[in-house]
Amino acid sequence: MNAHPGALAPQTSPTSMIDPFGRMVSYLRVSVTDRCDFRCTYCMAEKMTFLPKKDLLTLEELERLCSAFIGKGVKKIRLTGGEPLVRHNIMHLVRALGDKVRSGELEELTLTTNGSQLSRYASELAESGVRRINVSVDTLDPEKFRTITRIGDLSKVLEGIDAAQKAGIGIKINAVALKDFNDREIPGMMRWAHGRGMDMTVIETMPMGEIDEDRTDQYLPLSVLRKSLEEQFTLEDIGFRTGGPARYVKVAETGGRLGFITPMTHNFCESCNRVRLTCTGTLYMCLGQNDAADLRAVLRQTDDEAVLSAAIDEAISRKPKGHDFIIDRQHNRPAVARHMSVTGG
Ligand code: SAM
Ligand code: SF4
Repeated sequence: MNAHPGALAPQTSPTSMIDPFGRMVSYLRVSVTDRCDFRCTYCMAEKMTFLPKKDLLTLEELERLCSAFIGKGVKKIRLTGGEPLVRHNIMHLVRALGDKVRSGELEELTLTTNGSQLSRYASELAESGVRRINVSVDTLDPEKFRTITRIGDLSKVLEGIDAAQKAGIGIKINAVALKDFNDREIPGMMRWAHGRGMDMTVIETMPMGEIDEDRTDQYLPLSVLRKSLEEQFTLEDIGFRTGGPARYVKVAETGGRLGFITPMTHNFCESCNRVRLTCTGTLYMCLGQNDAADLRAVLRQTDDEAVLSAAIDEAISRKPKGHDFIIDRQHNRPAVARHMSVTGG
C-alpha cells in the first residue's frame, strides 16, 4: 500500500471527537479570510461583498480555536480561504501552528493557495514547518488563466511554485475540471505536474454560492474525464491517501499520481474526518450543509477552555451523514448559498 507518511492513524482517546456515525474528526480546515486577490469564475462573482473586518476572528482567536481542536484530537490543519496568504500577518498563525508540528501535537500543517503570493512566503512557510501545500492552477495558458481568475497572472503563480519547490515544499496541483475550458488541457497539465515531481488532483465543480455563470455549463463529471484519459494513459487505482477526499490513480506513462475529488458523481462522505472553521468562527460540520455552530460567541464569552470544548462536542454531535449536491437544469440554484471562499475549499 502506498500509505502517505502523514496519513492519519485513527487512534481514539477519551477526548477524541467522534460523530454520531462513528467517524473520528481529526482534520480541521480553517478559512482564515474570505478575501482573495483572484475572482475565479466558478468560485466568486465579479463584484463580491466581503465580510466587515470587525466580524473576523483575530489571529490570536484563530490560534486559540485551533489549539482547542488540537487538544481534542485534530492531527491535521489546512489553512485556506479565500486566499490564505493575503490575510495580514498570516505568518504569525503559521508560525504558532508550526510550533505545534515541531512539538508533535499536530502531525501536519498545510495550506491551499492560489500561489499568487508564494514566491514571497515560500521559504518562511518551509521554515515554519509546512512540508506540503496545494496550489490551485486550472490552466497553463496565460490568457485562459486570466479569463478564469478574472485577475490572475499565471507567471507569478509559476514563480511561486518554483520558489516553494526550491524551499523543499511538496506541491500538489489542484485543477477544477471545467467543461469546454480545460478538459482537453488536463493531459498536458498532468505531464507538466508529474514531470516536476508534483501530484495533481482534479475536482468537480460544486454548487456553492451565487456566481455570474451557469454551473450546468461548467460542470464536467470526472467519470467522463477519466474515461477520456484512459484512452491515452494507463491508470491504476491505488490506496494512497492524504487525509482528504481524493481517490488516487498511478499513471503508468508519467509515473505520477492523479487524484479525483468527486463530490458530485461519487459521494465520499462515508469516510469524512473533517470539519471546517470560517474566519468568523463559524464551524461547519459539512461543506455541503447549512447547519453550523457559532464558536466566536463562545470564544468571546469565556476564557474557560472547558466551555469551548463542550461547545465543540455539541457541534460534532450534529455532524450530518453527508451532503446532497446536485447540478442539473432543474436545480439551477446553489445547493448552499455561501461561497466556497467562505467555508474554505
Ligand atoms: N484561494 C485558494 C485556492 O484557490 O487554492 C484557497 C481557497 S479555494 C476556495 C480552495 C479550492 O476550492 C481551490 O482549489 C478552488 O479551485 C476550489 N473551488 C472553489 N470553488 C469551487 C467550486 N464551486 N467547486 C469546486 N471547487 C471549487
Ligand atoms: Fe480566490 Fe481560490 Fe476562490 Fe479562486 S478559488 S477566487 S483563488 S478563493
